[in-house]
Amino acid sequence: MARPRPAPARLPTFDHTEIEPKWQQRWEADRLYDAEVDSALPKHYALVMFPYTSGDLHLGHWWNFALADVHARYKRMRGFNVLFPPGFDAFGLPAEGAAIKSGTHPYTWTMENIRRMEYQWRTMGGSYDWSREVATCLPEYYRWNQWLFLQFYKHGLAYRQKAPVNWCPNHGVLANEQVHNYRCWRCEAAVSKPTWSSGSSASPDTPTTCSTSPRSTGPNASSRCRRTGSVARKGSSSTCPSSAAKT
Ligand SMILES: [Zn+2]
Repeated sequence: MARPRPAPARLPTFDHTEIEPKWQQRWEADRLYDAEVDSALPKHYALVMFPYTSGDLHLGHWWNFALADVHARYKRMRGFNVLFPPGFDAFGLPAEGAAIKSGTHPYTWTMENIRRMEYQWRTMGGSYDWSREVATCLPEYYRWNQWLFLQFYKHGLAYRQKAPVNWCPNHGVLANEQVHNYRCWRCEAAVSKPTWSSGSSASPDTPTTCSTSPRSTGPNASSRCRRTGSVARKGSSSTCPSSAAKT
C-alpha cells in the first residue's frame, strides 16, 4: 500500500502590484540608471533591439530585453559608466497601413502606441536611462541618420546604382512586404521588376578593393571605383588603382 504523500510546502507569496511600483518609483526618483558624463570611468554603450510600435509588448520582447539588462547591470558592477537607452523603431509600413485602415494620422497612431508600450516597458523594471528614450520617427533622431548617410556618401561608402525594384503601375515602387503573390497588396495589379536608380551602402572593407558589383546594371557601375571614381582595372579583381595603393 502506497504511503500517503506529505502535503506540499506553501511557497511564500508577495503582492507584486504593491512591491514593484514602490521600488521602481524609488529607483526613478534616485535617477539610479541615468548615465552621466564621467571621463574617469570606462564607457560602455548597451543597446537592445528597439521594439516596433505595434501597441503592445509581449513576452518575446522581454526575452530580448532581459539579457541586455543583465549585461548592462553586470557592466555597472564591474565599474563601467553604462549608457543604456530605450527606444522605439517607429518608422514603417504597419503604421502607414494602420493609418489608412483607421483613418488616423500615422503620427497619432504611432505616438499613442509608444505611450502605451512605454508604460508596459517601465513596469518590467529594467535598468534603462529613460531620460534618453528615442523614437526613430522623430526629427531629433532621424536628422542624425541623415547626417550619417551624408558622411558615408562623402567618403564613398554610400553610392547610387541601378537595381531591380518591385513596380506597381498605380502605386509606384513597393517594398517586398507590399507584394503578395507577385501582385500589389493594395490594388492587386501585377508587379513588374524594372531597374531603378537607388541608394546603396558599401561594406567597410570596400575602400581597399573596388570589386565589381554583380547586381549593378547601370552604365559604368561595374567599371568605376565606388570610393574614388577611378576606372577599375579589368580582370578578376577589378582593382582600383587609387585605393589599392593604400592597402
Ligand atoms: Zn498597387
